[in-house]
Amino acid sequence: MSLPSDLVAPLGVLAELTHRCPLACPYCSNPLMLDDRGDELDTATWARVFSEAAAMGVLQVHLSGGEPASRRDLAEIVSAANASGLYTNLITSSIGLDRRRLAMLKQCGLDHVQLSLQDVDADSADHIGGYRGGHAHKLEIARLVTELGFALTINAVIHRANISRVAAMVELAASLGAGRVEIAHAQYYGWALRNRQALMPTRAQVDQAMQDAERARSRYHGRLVIDLVVPDYYARRPKACVGGWGRRSLNVTPSGRVLPCHAAETIPGLTFWSVRDHPLAKIWVESPAFRAFRGTDWMEEPCRSCALREVDFGGCRCQALAITGNASAADPSCELSPHHARMLALAEQDAAGSDIDYVYRDRPATVRSAAAALR
Ligand code: SF4
Ligand code: SF4
Repeated sequence: MSLPSDLVAPLGVLAELTHRCPLACPYCSNPLMLDDRGDELDTATWARVFSEAAAMGVLQVHLSGGEPASRRDLAEIVSAANASGLYTNLITSSIGLDRRRLAMLKQCGLDHVQLSLQDVDADSADHIGGYRGGHAHKLEIARLVTELGFALTINAVIHRANISRVAAMVELAASLGAGRVEIAHAQYYGWALRNRQALMPTRAQVDQAMQDAERARSRYHGRLVIDLVVPDYYARRPKACVGGWGRRSLNVTPSGRVLPCHAAETIPGLTFWSVRDHPLAKIWVESPAFRAFRGTDWMEEPCRSCALREVDFGGCRCQALAITGNASAADPSCELSPHHARMLALAEQDAAGSDIDYVYRDRPATVRSAAAALR
C-alpha cells in the first residue's frame, strides 16, 4: 500500500517486545494493565512487521519493552530487523544480558544500545528500580557494550529522588564511554501519574537541575551529546509530543496493537488496530486511532487559532486528558491553556508533600536479582 502524498512514513518504530521486566520503576511508561506473556507476538510476526515497516520507509526500530532481553528469541528478532535494513537500537535495563548474549546480538547486527540508569548511587538506584544488584550489573554491561563496539546512549529519568545528581549522572555516562546521554524528567502518565506525589520535584530543584545539565553540556561539548527533556508541569509551552500525533512515530505493543504513543490507550473511545489483522502501512494511514488527532482539524481553542499549532500540535493528548478530562484540549503545560495554573498548582502541591512510598510497577514475583534473571 502506498502512502498518500500528504503523509510521510514514521521515522522510527518502537517495538515493545514484551511488558515483562525484572525491574519495577515507579515511572515506567508501560500501561497499568500489562500484556501477558502468552499474548506476545511471535518471532515470525515481528519479522513481518519489520519488513512492512522498512517497505513503507521506516529507518529505525527501537527494540524495547518492558525488558527486551526477557525474550529468549531476542537474537532472532534483531536478525530479522537487521535483515529488513532497519537501524536497530536496543533499549534495555541490562538485566538478562551478559557477555555471551551481547556478543550474539552484535553478530546478529544490533547497531546501538540505550541503557537506563536509575541513579549514580547504587542503593538509591536499586531502590528506585525495585531490584537488588541492578545498578552494579548495569555498570558491568555498559562496559561490555562499549568493549564490544556498540554505540552507547545512557537514559536517565529524573525525579525527586535523583534530581540533585544530574551532573553526576552525566559524569558517569561519560566515564562509561557513552556518546549520548538523555536526561528526561519523568512524564506523568501511567505508572508515573500514579506515583506523581512520590516523584514530583520542586521548581527550585528543576531549575537547579537544568542549570547543572547546561553546565555539563558546555563541559562535554564535542565529546558527549546531552539531550534534555524538560518537565512539563513547570513548562510554559508544551513539547510536540511524539513529533505530533501520527506524524513521526508509532508503537507496537507486545500483543500487536499499534499506538501513536505509549499512553494512547488511556484515551477512551479510541480503536487500536493490530498487526495481527492489518499491514502496518494500512494501520498508519487508516486506523481510527491515528486519524483521531492527526493534523490540526480536531483542535479546539486556544490551539485552533494559535500560530504555533503546526509547531507543537497542541502538545500531548494524554496529558490534556489526564489534567483536563478532555483529550482534545490544549496541553495544560501551555500557559495559554485555561488549565495551566491548575497543573502548576498540582505540581507544587505534590512536590511539597512528605516522602511517600512508591507504588512499584507490576512484575513477575519470581525474578528479584540480577543473578536470577540470567539463570
Ligand atoms: S520497569 Fe523500569 S526498566 Fe523496566 S521497562 Fe519499566 S522503566 Fe524500563
Ligand atoms: S495554544 Fe495550543 S498550539 Fe498554541 S502554543 Fe499552546 S498548546 Fe501549542
